[in-house]
Amino acid sequence: MPTRRQLVRIDAQRLADAQAQMRTTGIDAMFVGPSADLRYLTGYHALPLERLTLLIVPADGDVSLVVPDLEAPRAEQSGAPSFAELVTWGETDDPFDRVMDRLRAAGTASDGTYAVQDRLWSAFTLRLQERLPGAGWVPGASVMRPLRIVKGPDEVAALREVGAAIDHVHALVPQLLRAGRTEREVGHDIAELILGSHDEVNFVIVASGSNGASPHHETGDRPLEAGDAVVVDIGGRLDGYCSDETRNYAIGHVPDGYAELHAALEQAQDAAVEATRPGVTAESIDAAARDLLDDRGYGHLFVHRTGHGIGVEEHEDPYIVGGNSEPVAPGMAFSIEPGIYDRGRYGARIEDIVVVTDEGVERLNHRPRGLQVV
Ligand code: ZN
Ligand code: ZN
Ligand code: ZN
Repeated sequence: MPTRRQLVRIDAQRLADAQAQMRTTGIDAMFVGPSADLRYLTGYHALPLERLTLLIVPADGDVSLVVPDLEAPRAEQSGAPSFAELVTWGETDDPFDRVMDRLRAAGTASDGTYAVQDRLWSAFTLRLQERLPGAGWVPGASVMRPLRIVKGPDEVAALREVGAAIDHVHALVPQLLRAGRTEREVGHDIAELILGSHDEVNFVIVASGSNGASPHHETGDRPLEAGDAVVVDIGGRLDGYCSDETRNYAIGHVPDGYAELHAALEQAQDAAVEATRPGVTAESIDAAARDLLDDRGYGHLFVHRTGHGIGVEEHEDPYIVGGNSEPVAPGMAFSIEPGIYDRGRYGARIEDIVVVTDEGVERLNHRPRGLQVV
């Protein structure tokens, strides 16, 4: 995948950290299929295919990447071979024979404890379990979560860069919003703009009028009308790291009651950002936004958590949600995105990505958060 500016160099340290984590938690080997974790560990963006692609990470020793013959050129190009020995299998081979060979070579006990990356297809997991009937199984998150939840300075730099890139797109959104254009037409233009400053488009939500009351509305054929509120939530990927930013616009004039609602939402979003600093719990950040909206009488319309972690995936740990008593720490990056959804009328959400710093918090999005009438 071509990138404009390489801020993050994937080096052997990530795999070394995974192996260290496996040794502390008593895991003998980890299996990772095509996923963000594979990309995180090796830089290989593998296609999720019915043919097995599997990274085998033993707690000690050499890492192997089992790939179908026909994927070998892509795997080689990705740079993964500098971290893992490529093991290819042909169309008539059983790839699980290759996997067992590699485990034997690494000296991994057949009755050991194996971690399976959370998104490895059950079709593959079940075959592995068949081949290793005496083994114990644990979720791959027990290895990967602690690695990915705290971003290093290079990752924070990449998130800052992609945050600026999506700010740039939002700056151009007002000129796309006009009565008579459909959500889909606007969404198409936004996707083009995202590609202008990112490597990939991850998602485009343009939710106009009553569609704004559905937090994950599928951009559709509704034409924008004067007096609509429009929620625009967009994100892409640059240099492997994701952006995600939401702003609200009004077409021509502001619908009844919306200015007050939006003002309360801005305060709620600020309150949650201001509550963020090292050591506070994820749920206390959620409560900061929620308490404010409760006070203003909108609490019952705030139907989702305040935020989600972000990095090589759009949604990852930590989740900023009631019940998550985990303290946040420097290097954790997540969204703060309270929303108000008034079914049948309109909705609003204000979303920025923030990163916890040694002293407090840094916002990675800087577009004005006020309601913009276009
Ligand atoms: Zn979402
Ligand atoms: Zn979003
Ligand atoms: Zn988000």
